[in-house]
Amino acid sequence: MRIAALIPAAGRGTRLGHGRPKQFLPLAGTPILAKTLSVFESSPLIRDIILVVPPGEESYSREAIIERYNLFKVKRIVPGGATRQASVAAGVSAVAEDISLVLIHDAARPFVSHEVIQRVVDTAMVSGAACAAIPVVDTLKRSTGGREGAITVDREGVWAAQTPQAFRTSVLVAALERAAADGYTGTDDASLVERLGYPVVLVEGHPCNVKITTSEDLEYAERLAQGFARASSRCETD
Ligand code: C5P
Repeated sequence: MRIAALIPAAGRGTRLGHGRPKQFLPLAGTPILAKTLSVFESSPLIRDIILVVPPGEESYSREAIIERYNLFKVKRIVPGGATRQASVAAGVSAVAEDISLVLIHDAARPFVSHEVIQRVVDTAMVSGAACAAIPVVDTLKRSTGGREGAITVDREGVWAAQTPQAFRTSVLVAALERAAADGYTGTDDASLVERLGYPVVLVEGHPCNVKITTSEDLEYAERLAQGFARASSRCETD
């Protein structure tokens, strides 16, 4: 099966409060985006990488990331949209015709492992749609009025979705088209596929596969990255 990795990296990263989008910031000396792309570059499962970047950052991404870090599998660099979903749609339209499975992974999750990629691909090849996720371990509270009057939500069967998520190309295209027609915007790609009534299979992700969103996440990621550099291993333990 011919598989492409689609990496949405077109966020502006405003929640981090740095001048540059977060995916261009360094972790242990290497840009977050280069770290993420390197995992897919070295995965034998992936043939092509489609990279989606903020409009205007195409040349920077090519020179400072793709060429500098020898990321030969990056076949297309595409300008993204105003939402993550619009960026994914832009990336999907650049996927080669012969690609039958598209694996989508947030640029902001640089600690993804080959093991998780393998699990997601293996499952999606059979089922057509797979999503990395981890069971929620914290007790969940819902509060509708600020912080008061919180009530506990049953966490039985609740998982926190991660990326990668992988889909048969035809399923992903149909899901994006349906969402666009309905004016629906989701926070991940699996939610669009679910709306088609198509079953998405959950696959064990990993607690280290964190998404860097806040400056605290960035500090935590820096410590993780330095730890990996010392131990020359990834976070994955299985
Ligand atoms: O904003 P959030 O942290 O959910 O973004 C997840 C991923 O989606 C990031 O890698 C970010 O760069 C990407 N993104 C995008 N286009 C947007 C917004 C986010 O490609 N308009």
